[in-house]
Amino acid sequence: MIVEWLRQANKVVVFTGAGMSTESGLPDFRSAQGLWRNIDPSTLATVEAMQTRPQQFFDFYRMRIMGVRDSKPHIGYSILADWERRNIIQTIITQNVDGFHAQAGSQTILQLHGTLGEVHCAACGTVYSNEKYAEQTYYCQCGGTLRPSVVLFGEMLDDKTLLRASAASEKADVFIVLGSSLSVAPANQFPLIAKEYGAKLIIINEEPTAYDDYADLVVHDQKIGDWLVAVNEALKL
Ligand code: NAD
Repeated sequence: MIVEWLRQANKVVVFTGAGMSTESGLPDFRSAQGLWRNIDPSTLATVEAMQTRPQQFFDFYRMRIMGVRDSKPHIGYSILADWERRNIIQTIITQNVDGFHAQAGSQTILQLHGTLGEVHCAACGTVYSNEKYAEQTYYCQCGGTLRPSVVLFGEMLDDKTLLRASAASEKADVFIVLGSSLSVAPANQFPLIAKEYGAKLIIINEEPTAYDDYADLVVHDQKIGDWLVAVNEALKL
C-alpha cells in the first residue's frame, strides 16, 4: 500500500519529531524527563528560564549540544536523503534541532525550531559555533548571554519557514509523520493541513497521537528505522 502511494505521488512530505532521533541515542522530551531529575525539560526550554535560572538553562542545553556532537544520524536518515536524491520525497519538515537531516545529506529541510549547531548572543546577535557551549562559555564579548539558536517555548517561529512548510503541506499527496507526539503547536498543524488538502496521512509513532483517527495508515509496533528499512527494501522490488 505505502509503496504504491509513494510511487504514484508527485509530492511527498516527511515530517519528523524527536522520535526520529532516539535510535541515534538522543532522548525525546518524554524520555529526557527521567534523565533530568524529574524537571520537565519544556519548562527549561524557555526565555524565562534563560533569564531567571541561567545556569540550569545552560546545563540543560550543554547536555543536549554534547549529545548531538557525540551522536550521528542512523540509517533511517540516510534512507530519507537517498529518497530525496531519487525524487521519492521532496521536502522534510522537522521539529528537530539536532541537524541530523542535513548531516545525512538531505537538502530540502525546513527546520521549524532552529538548530543546536549554533549559538548566538541574545544582545548583539553575533553567531558562534556550538563549540562555545561545549567549552562552557556562556557569555558574548559584549556581555550578552549566548543562547542556542533554537526556538524556545513562547517564541515565534520563523515566518518564512512556516509559510514554506504550509505550502509544502498543501501540495503534498503523501505526508509521513515520523516520531512526533504531535502535541507541539504550531508544528502539529501541518499533518492536518496536508490531510485537509487531500494527502494520504501516514503516522509512524510508538505511542498513539491525537491525530491517529485522521490517518490513512498508523504504525505503532515498529521503530522508525526498521520501518524505513522495510519500505526502502519494498521500493527496490
Ligand atoms: P515528543 O518527544 O513529544 O514525541 C516523540 C514521539 O516519538 C513519542 O510519542 C514517542 O512515542 C515516539 N518515538 C520515540 N522513539 C521512536 C522510535 N524509535 N520509533 C517510533 N516512534 C518513536 O517529540 P516532538 O513531537 O518532536 O515534540 C517535542 C519537541 O521537542 C519538539 O519541539 C522538538 O524540537 C524538541 N526536541 C527535539 C529533539 C531533537 O532535535 N532530537 C530532541 C528532544 C526534543
